[in-house]
Amino acid sequence: MDAKMNKKQDIVKLAKAGNEPAEFALGKKGILICPEDDSYYFKKSWHNGRRAFLNRRENHDLSFRKVLCPADLMIKNGLWEGKVIIENPPKDKLTEIKNLIRNFDKVAQAKDTLDRIIKIDSEKGNLIVTTTENQMAHKLAKKIHDAFKKVSLKTSYQKAPGDAEIVWVKFQ
Ligand SMILES: [Zn+2]
Repeated sequence: MDAKMNKKQDIVKLAKAGNEPAEFALGKKGILICPEDDSYYFKKSWHNGRRAFLNRRENHDLSFRKVLCPADLMIKNGLWEGKVIIENPPKDKLTEIKNLIRNFDKVAQAKDTLDRIIKIDSEKGNLIVTTTENQMAHKLAKKIHDAFKKVSLKTSYQKAPGDAEIVWVKFQ
């Protein structure tokens, strides 16, 4: 088994461990908050809007502990679950493509605080986008496909070991 396979399997374990903090005693009056963002863990899942939640009068007596949310844990460990490889993007469309990706990130995170674009890398004229959630990869690829209808695109998927997913978007 190569190192890459190990890494992808680790991602799955990490995500599961992070989603259901075993050490967190459910039913007690307490929540987990992520020090990196505005998310909090309450009633078995992570949510957006921690500050607003804690500001509510009925929540003033809640105790909380700081724990990295699964998304930030994944980012901290250099892991990802979804990857979109955008091959040969036209130079005059680069800004438009990057804006689309950033907007996709905002919408995804607003819906689910654990859904993030991790980063956009430029590599040999290609764009490599990594995400914290596997299905985000093909959703983003579809968005790009829909937005650039005049460009010939070829999208292919690879179900990687574990839950990770890689999608290629080829501008031709
Ligand atoms: Zn976080």
